[in-house]
Amino acid sequence: IDFASPIDSPFYRGCINTHDYITDPGYQKANASFVMLTRNEELDGVLITMQSLERHFNQWFQYPYVFLNDKPFTEEFKSTIRKYTTAECHFGVVESIDWEFPEIITSKNGAETRNPLFDMAIHDQGDRGIMYGNMESYHKMCRFYSGMFYRHPLVTKYEWYWRIEPDVQFYCDISYDPFVEMHKHGKKYGFTVLIKELYWTVPNLFRFTKSYIKKERIKVGTLWELFTKNYKIIEPISEQHLLMDKFINKDDEVNDEFSRYVEMEYLLNNIDKKLNNAIDNEFLSDLMNDGDSHMDPSKIIKDKNGISSIIKSSMRKPPIVEDKFDNEEYNLCHFWSNFEIARVDTFNNDLYNKYFQFLEESGGFWTERWGDAPVHSLGISLFLNKEDVHYFRDIGYQHSTLGHCPANAKGQQLPYVANPKYEQEIFPKYYDSSLWNFLKTKKKKETEYSSGC
Ligand code: GDP
Ligand code: MN
Repeated sequence: IDFASPIDSPFYRGCINTHDYITDPGYQKANASFVMLTRNEELDGVLITMQSLERHFNQWFQYPYVFLNDKPFTEEFKSTIRKYTTAECHFGVVESIDWEFPEIITSKNGAETRNPLFDMAIHDQGDRGIMYGNMESYHKMCRFYSGMFYRHPLVTKYEWYWRIEPDVQFYCDISYDPFVEMHKHGKKYGFTVLIKELYWTVPNLFRFTKSYIKKERIKVGTLWELFTKNYKIIEPISEQHLLMDKFINKDDEVNDEFSRYVEMEYLLNNIDKKLNNAIDNEFLSDLMNDGDSHMDPSKIIKDKNGISSIIKSSMRKPPIVEDKFDNEEYNLCHFWSNFEIARVDTFNNDLYNKYFQFLEESGGFWTERWGDAPVHSLGISLFLNKEDVHYFRDIGYQHSTLGHCPANAKGQQLPYVANPKYEQEIFPKYYDSSLWNFLKTKKKKETEYSSGC
């Protein structure tokens, strides 16, 4: 495996003097902003992110911030924010037409009337303990980020955006301009964490994506391969997906270098055993303990055999897949979209917008809990190639319990990483890193980057 391949190599190796970098006559700032959708109540978390970003990047680069909200920001929010940066700050309200679900969708797919396309209703998600499944605002947020944010007038003023969220930490200095470097290298989309989605949040997303491809006769880009897998067996796969999250990594050390993936073959060989032993206490307690944030503990009711109702109901098969697309199935990989550095027109173009519209009309943002991350990933893979995407493996990033720790973060005190010795992915047991798919490798060498010098 060639780690210096154009797809994966960092833009710089070795130390960069940021002052020299920005005063170089050849350097011209990009037309770019940070974009954050957030709520007034999240001010503390927003400040954590800003302090970290200012300290490690924006004190030198002075890119403006765009804050969006479905409700107006308070004066207190705005004036506090402005104390934390000398860069410009813009505050926008999202039009209710861009935020609320169209009535045709909510009335058709509400709790009473079931969505005939899905054979389930929104409350099924909550009932089945799916993370955020019955939280309407979360569905709206996902839909907004999937198909709306890049059309907001404050965002379209710029050519590039860097998406940020409350409670994000950057560990290492970002000593060069990622927008400018992406532009120079012809990149359109950049990520730092690649993981797998929880199957039951998107059981029908791929089916609709494939229908769209057929309908529009799209010849997909090479990025498509990253998100798909040719399964020989399609039907039982849904159960396997669900269980996959639980079985992998049991024996792994928490931060084992890039070892947190599972071979499909391993799964196929072991799944019967695991299913048959579903009462296996160890398995059950694993499932319960690891599920803290995406399974609501109050929903966990065990029957007399100790089998949780969540497991039972989650094992319900999804509707029959009618349009099998050469046996392709979604492998659940996605770029973790709370970090994105991208061209605005990576999304704001006819192909993607039509794709979003198609998904919207299916009602899936409402009936299922389609995240913007898998939607973005599948959406851009319709027309991007792998080399259009940049892996920012030199950016130290953490949000909630997931993150990426570059080699240069060595010796720093990071949450969840007691002693960062080498570059690593950080994520809880119930997630599965997908870097494997991207890098197509099992092990990689420690590399020094420009960050953190
Ligand atoms: P998670 O990271 O998937 O757990 O999702 P978050 O709760 O962090 O939401 C993602 C982003 O959307 C964050 O920047 C939130 O501040 C923002 N967000 C989520 N729900 C709402 C909402 O109802 N209104 C507004 N204005 N922002 C929201
Ligand atoms: Mn978040």
